[in-house]
Amino acid sequence: MVKISERLKQVSQSIGEACSRAGRAPSDIRMVVVTKSAAIDSILEVMKLGALDLGENRVQQFKKVSGLVAEHIAQDESLPKNINWHMIGHLQRNKVRSVLSAIHLIHSVDTLRLAEEISSAAKKQNISPSILLQVNTSNEPQKYGVPIGAATHLAEQIMTLPNLKLCGLMTMAPLTKDKDAIRSCFTRANELFVEMKGERIVGPEFKELSMGMSSDYEIAIEEGATILRIGSAIFAG
Ligand SMILES: *Cc1c(COP(=O)(O)O)cnc(C)c1O
Repeated sequence: MVKISERLKQVSQSIGEACSRAGRAPSDIRMVVVTKSAAIDSILEVMKLGALDLGENRVQQFKKVSGLVAEHIAQDESLPKNINWHMIGHLQRNKVRSVLSAIHLIHSVDTLRLAEEISSAAKKQNISPSILLQVNTSNEPQKYGVPIGAATHLAEQIMTLPNLKLCGLMTMAPLTKDKDAIRSCFTRANELFVEMKGERIVGPEFKELSMGMSSDYEIAIEEGATILRIGSAIFAG
């Protein structure tokens, strides 16, 4: 079994190599370590190795794992204290209120109703959470995410809501071995990202492009990702 430290090193190295190919600086790319299937000891280990951005895709699991992590932080001086939690999966409106203040960035906003719910809960809590608009670049009907053609209009509507910071876009490539299909999703997301910035629909905080998972993060880097979401490449095996 390969150790987690080795896996983390391998991923960092591949990120570095993809950055070189793309003429980008590794410091411009943030990795969210996706903890959803990992054991708590493994999570604590990646934290000790410097991973401060952690992600979960389900509210229930987020509450459980972030609670455990917080307990360990309170007891163990060697753990970093400044963890940023990312909500990367579909968020139900009735779950928003209870997790909002604990989340650094919500990657998965894809409807006006969800954005409105986050905005009104945030207003009551007197906070301004950061969100990304999830776009469906693969045209798979079962996928979450606003269709590309509707994304700009939704962003305009979201920009009118109080207590929200729209910080960029998120997308998922289809589960396929077809690298060209994956790349074209990421290219489309990047084109939309650049176009939205150019049209100034959005504000100066609109600068994140969250795309790339264990199987496709190198392509995502080449296509302009600023945030990667990586789980199994670090924890599985
Ligand atoms: C699970 C998950 C990831 C990480 O996937 P891996 O293939 O394990 O790296 C990234 N993004 C989302 C939305 C996920 O649910």
